[in-house]
Amino acid sequence: MKHKPALPLVNTPGSGNSGCRTPKSVMVRLNNQPITQGEIDHFVYVACKKHGASPVWVTLSNRKTRRRWGTAWPTQRRVTMYRHSVWVFLHEMAHMLVPKGTGHGPAFARRLDELIDMWASLNKEEIMEVKVGDKVKIREIHPRDAWYPNRDRLEGLTLTLDYVGREYQDTPGFIDCGGSSPIGGYYRFAFVRVEGI
Ligand SMILES: [Zn+2]
Repeated sequence: MKHKPALPLVNTPGSGNSGCRTPKSVMVRLNNQPITQGEIDHFVYVACKKHGASPVWVTLSNRKTRRRWGTAWPTQRRVTMYRHSVWVFLHEMAHMLVPKGTGHGPAFARRLDELIDMWASLNKEEIMEVKVGDKVKIREIHPRDAWYPNRDRLEGLTLTLDYVGREYQDTPGFIDCGGSSPIGGYYRFAFVRVEGI
């Protein structure tokens, strides 16, 4: 999704961004950078794992609202984003990874700075090249694939990469590797066919 026109702003009063050491120009760039569900899934997995936090369920809402760009419910581990930008995502994720009652205080600003750094380093990561027919070894399963009936038996298995494309997302027998990259590198929207299960 494109954001037009580009917003020169990153916050509304009291949103805690002023406490960040990240330059405002970077914040503005991130707030004009659209984010995809695949990028969200990947980041949520890495960030929650690093902090030993429960998974977070992020919804990209198309409902129009002038009042807010996103909402976070830390107790329910849920985020809804109305503006689908990297910046809004990182802001709401910071709420999910600070102690209760932190609000937009200094601890929030520090966490947000850290998540901005994490975003930058993750996105410099090499994207692993995989092709249909490649044999890939499952290293770990993304928590969002918990619906898969034989999840516990998949780790360590060698599977055949069957298709690369998001349209197979809800097909039984396919695993979404977009988040955790169970085959040992970062790549997105790839799906593997499970053999012998
Ligand atoms: Zn906030």
